[in-house]
Amino acid sequence: MFALRSRKFSEFPPVLIGEPPRSGGDLVFPLFGIPVRVHPFFWLIAIMLGVGLAPTLIELLIWTVAVFLTVLVHEMGHALAMRLFGIQPWVTLYGLGGITSYNPAEAYHLSTWGNVLISFAGPGVQFALVAAIAGILSASGFELDIRRWGPVFFVFPAETVVSWGVTRLLSYMMLVSVLWGAINLLPIYPLDGGHIARDVLVAADPQRGTTQSLVLSIVAAAAMVVVGVAMRDMFMILMFGFLGYGSYAALHAYRNQRGW
Ligand SMILES: [Zn+2]
Repeated sequence: MFALRSRKFSEFPPVLIGEPPRSGGDLVFPLFGIPVRVHPFFWLIAIMLGVGLAPTLIELLIWTVAVFLTVLVHEMGHALAMRLFGIQPWVTLYGLGGITSYNPAEAYHLSTWGNVLISFAGPGVQFALVAAIAGILSASGFELDIRRWGPVFFVFPAETVVSWGVTRLLSYMMLVSVLWGAINLLPIYPLDGGHIARDVLVAADPQRGTTQSLVLSIVAAAAMVVVGVAMRDMFMILMFGFLGYGSYAALHAYRNQRGW
């Protein structure tokens, strides 16, 4: 489960997931002047992911709202960062996440660090959201439950906040924000971390940076598959297996294109 940022037109490595075609079930609205479109598949995947987690229908509904708000915050982070650089983006929530698209003709002036900032802004605002909710709860006298999983810290309300529904909504939003943000920072295409790795490696070595970032992406995805096997998590194995294969195919295509 992750959000993606893609450029609208072709680039290397090729964008693995593009914008879906318009559908009759699209939800369309503007937010801070940025056009947002939610494709029906977004709701379907969010519900599917919540089925094993939420024990009741009402909790599944709260989970789906939490996923929607969290992914929207993530993409708005990218979109608002782009606007700082004079780019007019649009956001699409689809399938396993979201895409913030833009016309690359508007982005020719972006430096490496501008690109890195835009990529980081998605996970960054999600972490800021968790910190803000935790800060408000703590300042209001609510106990917090902090749990660590490897390098990642999760924060939850430890007691009821206002009502059961509000507590569940906040808990799910905080859980998904940290997970979504952390997964997106892995140096794997087409996650934000994959874009950051490419931008930094290409700046350091314009000749070999793209190849290095693809190899890094394959190695990192393979490592996550191993973690998935250790955790017996089939979703993790399939997701990172798919992303690793995508990077392998992109590396192959890139080498063929360059005549290696
Ligand atoms: Zn992102």
